[in-house]
Amino acid sequence: MGLIHHDHNHDQHNHVHGDDTRFLPDDVREELKKIFTAIPHDVPVYLFGEKGGQTEYHLQLARELITEFAEVSDKIKFTEYDLKHKNAKKWGVRRSPTLVFAPELYRIHYLGVPLGEEGRTLVETLLMIGLRNSRFNETVKKVMQRIESPRNIRVFVTPSCPYCPQQAVNAVRAAIERPDLISVEIVDTSFNEDLAELYHAQSVPQTFANDILIGQGAQPAELFAASLEAMEEQRIFIPESDAELVDADVVIIGGGPAGLTAAIYTARSGLIAVVVEQGALGGQVATTPVVENYPGLAHIGGKNLVEIMVDHALQYVNIFPQEKVIEIKPGPERIEITTSLRRFTARAVLLATGASYRRLGAPGEKRLAGRGVSYCSTCDGPLFVGKRVAIVGGGDSAVTEALHLHHLGVNVTLIHRRDTLRAQDRLTKDLFDKGIPVLWNTEIKAIRGKEKVGELVLYNNQTKETSTMAADGVFVSIGYDPEVELAKALGVDLTPGGYIKHDGRHRTNVRGVYCAGDVEGGYKQIVTAAGAGAAAAMNIFEDLTHPYWKENQEAAG
Ligand code: NAP
Repeated sequence: MGLIHHDHNHDQHNHVHGDDTRFLPDDVREELKKIFTAIPHDVPVYLFGEKGGQTEYHLQLARELITEFAEVSDKIKFTEYDLKHKNAKKWGVRRSPTLVFAPELYRIHYLGVPLGEEGRTLVETLLMIGLRNSRFNETVKKVMQRIESPRNIRVFVTPSCPYCPQQAVNAVRAAIERPDLISVEIVDTSFNEDLAELYHAQSVPQTFANDILIGQGAQPAELFAASLEAMEEQRIFIPESDAELVDADVVIIGGGPAGLTAAIYTARSGLIAVVVEQGALGGQVATTPVVENYPGLAHIGGKNLVEIMVDHALQYVNIFPQEKVIEIKPGPERIEITTSLRRFTARAVLLATGASYRRLGAPGEKRLAGRGVSYCSTCDGPLFVGKRVAIVGGGDSAVTEALHLHHLGVNVTLIHRRDTLRAQDRLTKDLFDKGIPVLWNTEIKAIRGKEKVGELVLYNNQTKETSTMAADGVFVSIGYDPEVELAKALGVDLTPGGYIKHDGRHRTNVRGVYCAGDVEGGYKQIVTAAGAGAAAAMNIFEDLTHPYWKENQEAAG
């Protein structure tokens, strides 16, 4: 659930008006009122729609949503037009519902209704327009100024994708920064399936500029700007040599449960800590549909849990999101950390870099990634409602995601290479109770499709038979590989399984470099990652106040 309350599985006919069904919860409304008092300029918002048409219900949702925002601030000026109104033609609006923001100044269109996670895109858009400021940092502004020809950006999103607002906001910022050359259309694929089909965009976020794919997934603002300039996806952004320098005691790399918990513990012990995160805060938890085993919270959406953790950590530390660590250089006293935006120096570094999706390695997987091959059911599930998909794997993740897809109305089949599941009993029971079919002892040998997934080649490792299965998508959920790129570059020792090796107190073989969470292996639960983060933080505090290496030297000398 995002900022804006919305049940994605709403029954259209049961949407009743009344205070309990308002989009903005009371606390959010009060918070927004405070934020919006700071905006100096009017924000005209136009809603275009086809009354009485097939999209009537969505039009009504959009109307109610923007009306609530207009009640929050009198700077938000809301007008509704029929799709046949002359301004629709003037501003190039063709679909119902479409939101058009400040068209006399910018070209920013939202196709669909910014619900759920997309509420963040809406709030940021209203604020930036009200401020007449893209709020890009100076580095990104320089890249944007180098763009010399028009860019029509199109970002595909879903309301349940926690990564999408980052990319949508990047695009809106670009349109505000360069209104002379840049226009943007945010496309909610759940309202515009045909457009997603046209672009073969089967995962979100996906970003096109002048119909050329320039980004799959959410990008840090610098990489987004560089990709927009180059008109192809860029993966590295080197900061300028005079980049800002930040001093800290501990730099924590990774904003998942381990890193965030370590941040709280380190700061509370009196040290200055910062968290640097290149992707979405919360790591894998951000895309976990439901968490039911975190003590004290019997049933909570992964994204909600992340928001609670981030709010808590922010009481103690600065978090630097969307920054990729490029290099870590240990020195005799301090360690230097270079990110895509600035440099840090610290007395200790904690690697809480987590793990990333494991790839299947089947032919067709790479080519069709984002074209029906997906690694995130929370983000991409809504694109497959009513369609047939396979989910591969037999662990907690695969079963949790199979249940989530089934719940969304996706026709899902679980494919597992053995005849027993690794997942917890509770989840397995749910899977069978819901009647979700399972293909046992089955491996995927190839994923076929011209422009998007159409067929899977299956191999039964008991009967040795090969067969095919028609499928619109395949969700790969076969575990995670630890993110050890930075550790390897530093000369940190790894275990035979490829995890970071430590001494039981989260110290690696490189002095001043520590690890915590999924990157060091173990149970890979949210609560164990948080526990490891706490333990690592306490050991760092202990080591920085009583340096064991100095004591060892004294004993030896
Ligand atoms: P996992 O527990 O490592 O399970 C991976 C699954 O994928 C296994 O069933 C494995 O098959 C299969 N697999 C691995 N490589 C494969 C390949 N190349 N081809 C086909 N199948 C392959 O991973 P996970 O389910 O992502 O879970 C990771 C961790 O997160 C676990 O510790 C889990 O408990 C935790 N988690 C917990 C929850 C929850 O509590 N609700 C939710 C999500 C994750 P085999 O069984 O044959 O090895």
